[in-house]
Amino acid sequence: MFVKISCVQTIKTIGVCGAGTMGSGIAQVAAMAGFSTILFDLNKTILDKGKSGIESSLEKLAAKNKISENEKAQIAQRIIYTDDIKECRADLIIEAIIENEKAKVELFNQLAAINSNETILATNTSSISVSAIAHKITSSHHFAGMHFFNPAPLMKLVEVIRSDETDDATINTLIDVLAKMGKTAVICKDAPGFIVNRVARQYYLEAMHLVEAGLADINTVDAAMEAAGFKMGPFKLMDLIGMDINFTVSNIVWEALGKPLRLQPSGLQKQKVSEGNLGKKTGKGFYQY
Ligand code: NAD
Repeated sequence: MFVKISCVQTIKTIGVCGAGTMGSGIAQVAAMAGFSTILFDLNKTILDKGKSGIESSLEKLAAKNKISENEKAQIAQRIIYTDDIKECRADLIIEAIIENEKAKVELFNQLAAINSNETILATNTSSISVSAIAHKITSSHHFAGMHFFNPAPLMKLVEVIRSDETDDATINTLIDVLAKMGKTAVICKDAPGFIVNRVARQYYLEAMHLVEAGLADINTVDAAMEAAGFKMGPFKLMDLIGMDINFTVSNIVWEALGKPLRLQPSGLQKQKVSEGNLGKKTGKGFYQY
């Protein structure tokens, strides 16, 4: 009896699109795992900020003797920073741009046009249907979700989401790459919020409902949850994630599940987004940085 084993593609170069909170962390992870890495963002200022963030993170790792000075230099040399999409040619490209389906689809079709048919495309979306994106892009069988957590260099989990068109070789290759990165891959169904963002919605929403109802303030909620064993209180965590991203994810999950009352997005968070107080990345969110 023959058993069909779908092969694992050799990945040497990884492109990362978007150099914000997630993209810069994912690029660091890729370079640390030995992959030639290209970090692309349309915004030169954010690209520079991503570069200095990676360099200071490597500096801290060297100071703690987690990597040698030589390794630090080699990792840094593996990353090319660019604001020109034409330079974004790789064996695997991980997209971490804004949480907007149209923008992601447009980017994937641009990437497909300048890359080989073998290039694997992956989205770091937190909440958009991976199949919905797949149906609108040209290389859909070489496309999957690859959902890293924040901060990407520290968090072990990566949710791998297959669309209804993803082939087995793509999934196997992503699992192989994640093993090389030292990550724990969990295969998830393409359901709203996948696993972690679905379960964690209540962590954020109930915390904001408590505060909106005047039953506790943000410091008290965070202190209570941390003392209860959670690593970060919900308000600190939302500031780390970014208010715009967290609010968009809440809206997408809520709408995809038929707008249940229990998952209704918070007016408090909507207000923060409209004020531009997006959390750590803008210097102010629920807390001041
Ligand atoms: P961010 O706002 O920090 O960064 C997004 C970056 O994308 C910006 O630098 C922007 O200039 C860039 N960008 C926008 N359009 C672009 C394009 N067409 N080409 C290249 N660059 C473009 O966002 P983030 O928090 O890093 O989130 C990125 C993605 O990762 C989202 O899909 C989000 O849902 C997901 N995600 C976020 C977190 C988190 O905690 N923030 C965790 C897991 C997944």
